[in-house]
Amino acid sequence: FIYLDYNATAPVRPEAVAATTASLAAVGNASSVHTAGRDAASTVDQARERVAALLGCLPNELIFTSGATEANNLAIRSAATHGRSLVVSAVEHPAVSEAAAAVANSVAGKVYTIGVHRDGTLRLDELEEALAASPVLVSVMAANNETGVLNNLDLVVRLAHEAGALVHSDATQLVGRLPIDLSKLRLDLLSLSGHKFGAPQGVGALFARRGTVPAIRPLAYGGGHERGRRPGTLNVPGIAGLGAAAQAARRDLEQEAARIKVLRDRFETEVMTAVPGTRRNGHPDQRLPGVSSLTFDGLPADALLAAMPGLAASEGSACSSGALEPSHVLLAMGLSRDEADCTIRFSLGHATTADDIDRAVRCVTYATHLVRAALHPNTT
Ligand code: PMP
Repeated sequence: FIYLDYNATAPVRPEAVAATTASLAAVGNASSVHTAGRDAASTVDQARERVAALLGCLPNELIFTSGATEANNLAIRSAATHGRSLVVSAVEHPAVSEAAAAVANSVAGKVYTIGVHRDGTLRLDELEEALAASPVLVSVMAANNETGVLNNLDLVVRLAHEAGALVHSDATQLVGRLPIDLSKLRLDLLSLSGHKFGAPQGVGALFARRGTVPAIRPLAYGGGHERGRRPGTLNVPGIAGLGAAAQAARRDLEQEAARIKVLRDRFETEVMTAVPGTRRNGHPDQRLPGVSSLTFDGLPADALLAAMPGLAASEGSACSSGALEPSHVLLAMGLSRDEADCTIRFSLGHATTADDIDRAVRCVTYATHLVRAALHPNTT
């Protein structure tokens, strides 16, 4: 079995398995004042420091959440101000775009959506136009989940701050895969999800820069956990795993990114040579090292994936409630519906090996022959 779906979720790193397991074997609510509670609280403190070290922020600028979906909602809901607009890019994850739409609706604001170029990079002309409306918040993802395309966040921050807007970035796909330093990159809010870089599923964090974000307004009513910003008993085992994954990712980041890029580039070159009519989506360089979005001319992604049961990858389509919609990301980049339907996202990560790539190339090549023979018998 070859796993090339790291953008959906990554295998849990051994360090995270160990930290989570140790925490599961202990008892203690991080809010309790007795020894067991204090031990749980110190596990949380240590994890907070490790995540802060990965991001270059202060530990108390982090709020632990159930993942990026919650962090995105918390950020957008907290920043929204009555009557002021929000700006998002056209290729955001629904946890940003849907949250922005709902929040704008409830505070009578407007959402401006900025388009992208054919290579998936942001249309800065449209950002500048939207900034003229004095939005309260700009939310632009750090790296796209379907194509890996990276945004120039330095520039977005500069332009948005000049216009008096706060900046949030959904950095779910970037954190733990490429370096980020919030002491230099002056984002106001950032979301992450642990399971994309080797923590267990169901734990993440929101970074809210001290002093710049007016107030974090909790999404639920409850206790005063996370300094009143996220009520509910902390997920100590998950948070312990998040901290351990952050520490391991930080230690291995540069080496891992370089190794993964070599594998990804080889995968693309070999597939594109073996399968004529294959095109790569997204900016060739300005993208995550481990992502490859490939369009196989005339070969539907669902048929191809069914023809390679030993390989896990994703369609360039989001499957919601069983109905396959063409990917809004690929459509925003100008691909046709047919092209989007023929697109597969392969995503590599920390445990991907050279042997995985050799086998994946063979699997993909074989699947394209099978599907082409079935669908276009006269051309083979
Ligand atoms: N944002 C992006 C860019 C993502 O890729 C994902 C996960 N697919 C999320 C947000 C949501 O993360 P989670 O499901 O862990 O809350």
